[in-house]
Amino acid sequence: MSFNSIHFPITKSQFLNFTKCVNSFYILNQGLITKQNIQHSGNLEWSEFQDLCRSLFPKAVSIPKSLSKEDQLTETLAAIRERNAIFHGFLENETLSSSIECLVPEPDSSGWVLWDFRSVGSQKQDILRSLYFQKKLLESFQIPVSQIKVIRINSGYVHTSESIDKESYLVIDDVTERIETEKTRFDQEWILFENYKGNPNFPLFMEDFHTCKSPKTCYLDTVCFPDLNRREIFDLREGHDLAKKYYLEGLGSFLEIPEEELTPIQKIQKQSHETGKLYIDFPKMQTYFENVTPKIAFLDFESVNPLLPIFANSRPFQHIPFLFSLHIWDSETDELTHHTYIHEPDGTDPRLFILEHLSKKLQEDITICSFNDFFEKLVIEEATQVYPNFIEWWSTIRPKFIDLALPFKKFWVYHPKQRGKASLKDILPAITDVSHGSLTIKEGQDANYQFLRLLKKHVTDDDKNRVLGDLLRYCEMDTFGLFLIYKKLKNEISISQC
Ligand code: SF4
Repeated sequence: MSFNSIHFPITKSQFLNFTKCVNSFYILNQGLITKQNIQHSGNLEWSEFQDLCRSLFPKAVSIPKSLSKEDQLTETLAAIRERNAIFHGFLENETLSSSIECLVPEPDSSGWVLWDFRSVGSQKQDILRSLYFQKKLLESFQIPVSQIKVIRINSGYVHTSESIDKESYLVIDDVTERIETEKTRFDQEWILFENYKGNPNFPLFMEDFHTCKSPKTCYLDTVCFPDLNRREIFDLREGHDLAKKYYLEGLGSFLEIPEEELTPIQKIQKQSHETGKLYIDFPKMQTYFENVTPKIAFLDFESVNPLLPIFANSRPFQHIPFLFSLHIWDSETDELTHHTYIHEPDGTDPRLFILEHLSKKLQEDITICSFNDFFEKLVIEEATQVYPNFIEWWSTIRPKFIDLALPFKKFWVYHPKQRGKASLKDILPAITDVSHGSLTIKEGQDANYQFLRLLKKHVTDDDKNRVLGDLLRYCEMDTFGLFLIYKKLKNEISISQC
């Protein structure tokens, strides 16, 4: 790879990338890959949250985003000179640029309070880093920062009335001291960053990849590890360092890695890649299936988890189910039936309706199979806390769950086509000939986003009906997929016992 000099000014998100992986900074700074723009439900609620935060500063002036960057800078500096509180200021020097969510003058000194609004329930290291970056930029304009504060969400807030009670919902954290405590670490990162952007001898791209923590989960990996024929090596489970080492040594496949360097799980992967066949730990799987009843229900929920609670007796970020799909298989007659419920996005609480419909279908004589069943159990448990009439039913149903993700997480089952992954979307096409590929909605996160969009935005009836149809098909595919995987594993075990 040949290297170009870096582009200035550097934004705070680029700086955050730098602190994680130098190569990711370089790739994004050069525009070698465009940053992924993933739709997520927080985008639908951001301006509502921001308005709540802004309402705490009635005198602040807002710098319009519609202005050119140059004009935003001029207006920001003018407002600072007049000692106005400012929303969405913008500062840029020769090397750095950043928007500033909120800046408020101290009444009794020349100092300023730097504020950030964050739609999260707890402080994260990157929020502090981002504020450190903004403080550095402000100081380069001789604007002294005396306090740094963050407004975030109280995740324990319970919504009871029509509108959000902002006094209880918002939390103000004074992070001035916390940033001071982390100063040594942040200063070291900053010196490294200064060296990187100012020293022509500093490598722009780490060709030993020592800053690479997780190529497998990094969407920039095709730039760093472009040889498609040798990328199988990154399928190794929990083997990033080993995989990087062997990739750099020119290895093409993890089949070439000496056995003694592999963990027991990696040996299972290697064995399965060698045979090209499904690996099953039969004794473990026989135990897993031991107490399963002849009737098995495959259950999946779709939910929304708004940061601004919509329904009474719900908290920020709490998952509220609006749709379930249930396939019930009678293994003795081989009869499969499908049941589903989707709630109308009319602002009423879906939980009662979900419990009513589900409790009619799920009774004691049935095993309930979900993928990562802690989620389904949590959703029902929380719903019954609001609707206690269902607690007794729930107490009989709860012990009936089994988790179909477990055998894959434990590597009691593995197929080479999973490529080291263990999500339902990866397992289903590896083990059966079915996949989510042809569906419009392919991920739970998108299902969440689409239903929240129906709740929050004005949409046409056509749009609404189309989305509800897509959601039903997506959820149905999940439980049909669970049934197919379950049946396949059951068959394999029956054959092995013959
Ligand atoms: S693949 Fe690794 S080195 Fe490349 S950008 Fe991602 S984390 Fe950094």
